[in-house]
Amino acid sequence: MAKKIKVKTTLVEMDGDEMTRVMWQMIKEKLLFPYLEMDIDYYDLHVKHRDDTDDQVTIDAARAIQKYGVGIKCATITPNEDRVEEYKLKKAWKSPNGTIRAMLDGTVFRKPIFVSNISPAVSSWKKPITIGRHAYGDVYSNFEMRIPAAGKLEIVFTPSDGHANSIPVFDFPSKGIVQVNHNLEESIVSFARACFTYALSEKIDLWFSTKDTISKIYDAGFREIFDVEFEKNWKDKFKKAGIEYFFTLIDDAVARIMKSEGGMLWALKNYDGDVLSDMIASACGSLAMMTSVLVSPNGWYEYEAAHGTVQKHYYKHLNGEDTSSNSMALIFAWSGGLRKRGELDKTPDVINFADKLEKAAIATVEGGTMTGDLLALAEKKSSNKKVNTQGFIDAIAQNLQKMLHG
Ligand code: NAP
Ligand code: MG
Repeated sequence: MAKKIKVKTTLVEMDGDEMTRVMWQMIKEKLLFPYLEMDIDYYDLHVKHRDDTDDQVTIDAARAIQKYGVGIKCATITPNEDRVEEYKLKKAWKSPNGTIRAMLDGTVFRKPIFVSNISPAVSSWKKPITIGRHAYGDVYSNFEMRIPAAGKLEIVFTPSDGHANSIPVFDFPSKGIVQVNHNLEESIVSFARACFTYALSEKIDLWFSTKDTISKIYDAGFREIFDVEFEKNWKDKFKKAGIEYFFTLIDDAVARIMKSEGGMLWALKNYDGDVLSDMIASACGSLAMMTSVLVSPNGWYEYEAAHGTVQKHYYKHLNGEDTSSNSMALIFAWSGGLRKRGELDKTPDVINFADKLEKAAIATVEGGTMTGDLLALAEKKSSNKKVNTQGFIDAIAQNLQKMLHG
């Protein structure tokens, strides 16, 4: 057995729930542990363990990423009423992703994984569209309440060094609902910087869109910050690199994206990025064909899959039925985190391993061995073969073994 590759600095691992937890274990056993010697700081974000620790484990995991710099996360259940019942939880804990993102701040970049035998549903897309999703604020850290009956809604703002100021918001004629969103200028500036930096490093155009015609302070505020930042720090660099930044209304951006060739970074506010990255992923094959990384302005990175815990497949798995769940995005979470660790630690053999792992995964699909979600979309060939969850990881392991040791 060849000597294992040493990962120099501790990696933060966050385990998750359901089918992704099952795949996570297989990936570690078949694709990572045989080749890597790693110090892992492990956090079990299984919903029951979050419940047992009153969600302290999620906070500890985010702190560990702050300490070591790179975290790799499995998908996790965000509990709702059904999940509270199913897992007998104390309460519907907040989304762990929301908690972690709020502690790290930053921007989530999501990029589809292109394989030669699957064409995007949008025929004009020749290159992957990367989404840059602001990871702070908006509906994910909102305040909301039910308005029980007719009455006046006011917002009170008390400056830390001043007097309370009450602003009328709405006269409810009858019962209703209300939501209050907030954001921080500092966070939006770092969102803008992260997007300009990413576009420049990848040499791709940057599009930014919000609903600034309707939301004249909140959404227009985002646009203004991007404009100021671009004029001040990026205009010349973009010109030199031959790339463009432009802002357009989100409605216009959505229409134009559908007719574009792709290949740009599309910066979006938190909610817009959440929803539209799923649309891009699904148009490129499957939710499992999308990479996702949170880049924090403090130099912390969190790699994850963009999809959820694949609940329906998990119930089948529990029933002893065969599943064909796609582990691509989870594998790319590991390869992305390992590559970043290698860059930060200056360990080229770790970077090389990450590259080979991705190549082995792509070669498996391009060679015709794939899970059910992809088989339905792939170019029809007699050599195409549908494999189950374990079979897919085994096939990648075989390719990886060949690539690493011939
Ligand atoms: P999901 O897990 O993303 O799955 C939705 C559907 O997409 C699946 O039923 C499956 O379609 C397909 N799919 C997603 N990932 C796949 C994969 N790797 N391989 C094959 N097919 C895949 O979303 P959900 O079922 O709405 O949510 C389940 C749980 O995940 C929820 O509790 C939610 O809170 C959580 N969630 C977590 C994250 C995160 O941690 N990042 C993100 C989103 C949701 P078919 O059934 O048609 O095969
Ligand atoms: Mg989403």
